[in-house]
Amino acid sequence: MHPTTQMLENARERVTFPIEELTKLIYVNEEIYETFMKAQKIIANEPTIRNHPDYHNWSRKQQIIKSYEKLRIMHQHFNLANAVHWAPLLSIFQGTTPTAVSFAMTVPALRFLGTDEQFNLWGPKFLTMEIVAAYAQTEIGHGSDVQNLETTATYDPQSNDFILHTPSVSAVKFWPGELGFLSNYALVYAKLIFNGKNKGVHPFMVQIRDNFTHKTLKGVTVGDIGPKLGYSTKDNGFLAFDNYRIPLNSMLARYVRIENGQFSRHGNEKISYASMMVSRQLIIFIYPRMAAQALTVAIRYSITRQQFTNDKGVENSVIEYQTQQDKLLPRLATCYGMIFTGIRIMQLVDDNFHRVQKKDFSTLQQSHAILSAIKAYSSQWVVDTTEWCRLSCGGHGYAHYSGIPAAYFDTAPNVTLEGENQVMYLQVARYLLKVLQYAEKNPEKVPFYFSFVLQIKDTLNNKDLSNINTQLGYLLKLSLTIQLIQVGKRIKDLMNTGKTFQQVWNEHVGIHLLSLAQRYAEYFIYLVFQEYISNANSSVKDILQSLCDLYCVQTILDNSSTLIESGQITQEQLKSLNELKIELFTKIKPQAIGLVEAFNFNDNALRTCIGCHDGKPYEYIYDWATKENSVNKVPQAVIDLMGTKIKPKL
Ligand SMILES: Cc1cc2nc3c(=O)[nH]c(=O)nc-3n(C[C@H](O)[C@H](O)[C@H](O)COP(=O)(O)OP(=O)(O)OC[C@H]3O[C@@H](n4cnc5c(N)ncnc54)[C@H](O)[C@@H]3O)c2cc1C
Repeated sequence: MHPTTQMLENARERVTFPIEELTKLIYVNEEIYETFMKAQKIIANEPTIRNHPDYHNWSRKQQIIKSYEKLRIMHQHFNLANAVHWAPLLSIFQGTTPTAVSFAMTVPALRFLGTDEQFNLWGPKFLTMEIVAAYAQTEIGHGSDVQNLETTATYDPQSNDFILHTPSVSAVKFWPGELGFLSNYALVYAKLIFNGKNKGVHPFMVQIRDNFTHKTLKGVTVGDIGPKLGYSTKDNGFLAFDNYRIPLNSMLARYVRIENGQFSRHGNEKISYASMMVSRQLIIFIYPRMAAQALTVAIRYSITRQQFTNDKGVENSVIEYQTQQDKLLPRLATCYGMIFTGIRIMQLVDDNFHRVQKKDFSTLQQSHAILSAIKAYSSQWVVDTTEWCRLSCGGHGYAHYSGIPAAYFDTAPNVTLEGENQVMYLQVARYLLKVLQYAEKNPEKVPFYFSFVLQIKDTLNNKDLSNINTQLGYLLKLSLTIQLIQVGKRIKDLMNTGKTFQQVWNEHVGIHLLSLAQRYAEYFIYLVFQEYISNANSSVKDILQSLCDLYCVQTILDNSSTLIESGQITQEQLKSLNELKIELFTKIKPQAIGLVEAFNFNDNALRTCIGCHDGKPYEYIYDWATKENSVNKVPQAVIDLMGTKIKPKL
């Protein structure tokens, strides 16, 4: 057997838990698992869409053409209207999927904000690709601050329609995905002007290109915004309107209507949160799985990669170095927490949708707060994790052939899109402070995942930390509770000095609010992790508990300042936590290969040559560099120049 294949096989033999039990937890149910496995196989066997080692040598235009071929082939195999079908695919394709925005952002908005008639009019056309529609909210001048968008939709009572207009450069729609050249429609967010009055920002379903020729319609200016970090095949676009007339029915009218020349509002406007939940939920569900891909590559490579000789004259695998374990094992542990949280969030969102459909909005705000916290926390964690995986693979991690740089830039935009993370955190902090305010008088109104607010006194008084290593969940709750109390008090104190709430919020407590929301996300992930451990098969409870403990201990150590400053833990206790972390490394390291292989990615899905199932990183990377690297085939012009024309000036 090849020596590095043997090293992986030896590592596999040391795994002591049944890997398939974890695979079952990761893939939720048979249907999702089967779909995912089938998709991996189809993609690996289909030359047009399988990983192409030379992909990153191609121009952006070539990559875009490939992505459109991919779209055609995907339609032959998968039902893109069904999230179970396409959601798992996002993590295993090279480059982004061309219609993800249309399906994951625009269709949900149409479903939640449009009337049934409007959904029935446009919805089925998405399935046949007669309509591909960008979600056009952000403008050059405003993104997070939706209420200050400048595009106007002025109601014209004479013709009973709207005039859509872009009054300035800052009002040009900028960034929407699939707008550059793919979409023939856009869901445009514009300020409704009715009888000269601003009635707020609302969505309008607008045709921007001809259905047959795909040419831009008169009064519309649209195109691609240019190259960016990764995301090369996504045609993020710009869009401007010049007094462009659109019919009355363009305005999504479930909650606002113009009928017989009268404007009216209906139902709960907070429903707009519901449409955003779909895409945020997908970010939370899918992208930790891309971190899992990077971890699979990094851990396999770390087992096969040898540097420096030990006392016995044998070269060490780099995974044996404690610093290498420190780069990878806490992230591997957290990855499990993130994936479980992604599944739990899907269930919460599902439950919320069923309620909303019955006009029960009781879980809307708490779901929005949880989603915002976890979207922000997990998206940043995914990007950081892919970067640490890259670092852990040394020089070869820097090569696109490792599969890791693309994992980094395919996930990086999630920190900004679908709600900029810090803005999300601030909304979470606002919700937590609101719960704190009403908890004492109305404890029954406090949602389950916020019930720590009802236990504040107990939490602060439970000082028995004699065996701190068994109190990890409690420490996360304590840290969160202290942050909440402190920030609440800080706001009150500052307002007592005469400052307005707005001043205090924007200028004096921002970093504390952020920290509060992050501690909430960490505690939520812990709660979900615990739920999974309680329900897991006994054969994997032990390994899951070790992962959860490592997640907790690393999180506590990373943010220990709150607990130290408030005198809740001593230096000795901190030392004990550090020792626990090392003990957990010893326990988890031999299981690491099983833990990443439970994700069950095939080599094609990993897009790697240094983290393949059979090892052999050196053979494959040399093979790809020499045989798959098109740059080696075109240097005649360079040779000519070097040979004749470039003469150094002496
Ligand atoms: C790859 C990509 C794809 C995208 N796709 C789409 C799409 O399909 N459709 C669409 O409509 N848009 C899309 N966007 C735009 C995206 O939604 C916005 O960029 C995002 O919402 C952030 O808004 P912004 O750019 O205005 O950032 P800003 O809000 O201007 O942020 C700039 C900085 O200001 C800070 N900041 C802003 N407000 C506050 C505050 N109140 N308190 C404290 N700090 C604050 C932020 O934290 C950040 O650090 C996409 C963006 C990217 C990068």
